[in-house]
Amino acid sequence: MLKHKEIAIIGGGPGGLTLARLLQLKGLNVNVYERDLDREARIQGGALDLHTDSGLAALEKAGLMDEFKANFRPGADLTRVVDHKAKIYFDQHLEENHLQFEDKNYRPEIDRGPLRNILLDSLATNTVHWNCHILSIEPLADQWKIIFENGHAVIADIVIGADGANSKIRPFVTPIKPFWTGITMVEGSVKNADKTAPNIHRLLKGGKIFAYGNDKTLIVSAKGDGSLGFSTSHKTSEFWYRESGIDFKDNKQVLAWFKQAYAEWDQIWHELFQSEDTLFIPRPQYCMPLDQKWKAKANITLIGDAAHWMPPFAGEGVNMAMLDALQLSEALTDPSFTDTQKAIQTYERKMFSRFESVGQMTLFNTQWMHQPNALNKMLAMFSKNKLKQGLFFFNYMIKVMLIPFTRKVFGLAPKQKVFAST
Ligand SMILES: Cc1cc2nc3c(=O)[nH]c(=O)nc-3n(C[C@H](O)[C@H](O)[C@H](O)COP(=O)(O)OP(=O)(O)OC[C@H]3O[C@@H](n4cnc5c(N)ncnc54)[C@H](O)[C@@H]3O)c2cc1C
Repeated sequence: MLKHKEIAIIGGGPGGLTLARLLQLKGLNVNVYERDLDREARIQGGALDLHTDSGLAALEKAGLMDEFKANFRPGADLTRVVDHKAKIYFDQHLEENHLQFEDKNYRPEIDRGPLRNILLDSLATNTVHWNCHILSIEPLADQWKIIFENGHAVIADIVIGADGANSKIRPFVTPIKPFWTGITMVEGSVKNADKTAPNIHRLLKGGKIFAYGNDKTLIVSAKGDGSLGFSTSHKTSEFWYRESGIDFKDNKQVLAWFKQAYAEWDQIWHELFQSEDTLFIPRPQYCMPLDQKWKAKANITLIGDAAHWMPPFAGEGVNMAMLDALQLSEALTDPSFTDTQKAIQTYERKMFSRFESVGQMTLFNTQWMHQPNALNKMLAMFSKNKLKQGLFFFNYMIKVMLIPFTRKVFGLAPKQKVFAST
């Protein structure tokens, strides 16, 4: 079906690169266009946990599990749940038996940089075209013209938008827009954490911290290069990042904001804001409508955040992106499909259905993590140190409370089929 066709993947994030690898393994002609100057151009964000049925399944299919096992960070998944005073209420480091790859619930962590490198190294030379910021695309008869910021253009038969949250490709697939969730995150990264944030570094113990207090959260994770990544999140107005008047490039202003907004929080957290090297990024949180659907086209589709941008409070974004890549590659290379529209439709139906349930869970977490009793909810999830019980609680909440809850809080129409199957 796709022999002799030119496939253009826009965006070299985890979704786009996984798809490129999977399609190349099937002998297809793939090019990835990425706006970063080169593979070293950008500091990659915090660690990502990959899940058995999605992120890891895609890597397995891509033949990259050995590389993953050589690069993941054992112990980086171990979590401490603390309150705003940094008092520890739950500590996975104390558990006797830590999960292993054989356990379905194991969620090994890998830094974004090494994950990207594994995927990049698996691709044929010159598959990824760096410094290719796509401005737009234009439909031709049955192809696409892809237009770059520098004025150049290329032609492709099939375009896959893997260009993340503010996708330039998405409007050519659907007019559906994301909605505002009421939460803004402020993301940062502290280098040489053992010296620049020694108390947090000790508390972190090479793993993760989830801190809750006064409707706010703070998530910290250790990275393999000795730095740590963190993000605050709290309720704001939609354009708080500019209306607050804070210059996020001025670290003193960000620290002053944190001291005031997180006034009840312990001073230990100030360590995260004191380094002059830290780059702060305010990230207003949006979510695509959970019931989004569109009519499949024959030569264009979306994967990852471009398809289903959502807040990161369920840790599913990268896993969804990689599973999209897996399912799209399977559909596009399925010999039983005689036309690409049918293949793309088959993938999109699976993706819509998955997003409905994962998006529900994500919005549910987004809500409770920013309420006064967030700490207790988190502890209930991990109660008695049993992950299975946590998952049971989670499933229960999803089934019993989630549908009416998300309708009420996020204004979904009462008749909307939130768990509609396709
Ligand atoms: C603070 C924070 C914490 C997160 N934590 C987690 C977590 O713990 N677990 C998890 O699963 N997910 C997490 N996520 C979400 C996760 O990062 C995303 O869901 C995931 O990266 C999506 O992958 P993607 O390939 O679809 O898009 P992206 O990773 O966004 O990649 C898109 C790529 O496209 C490129 N691009 C964009 N526009 C263009 C253009 N016009 N032309 C060319 N190239 C372009 C970009 O440079 C980028 O390389 C987090 C997100 C944030 C913001």
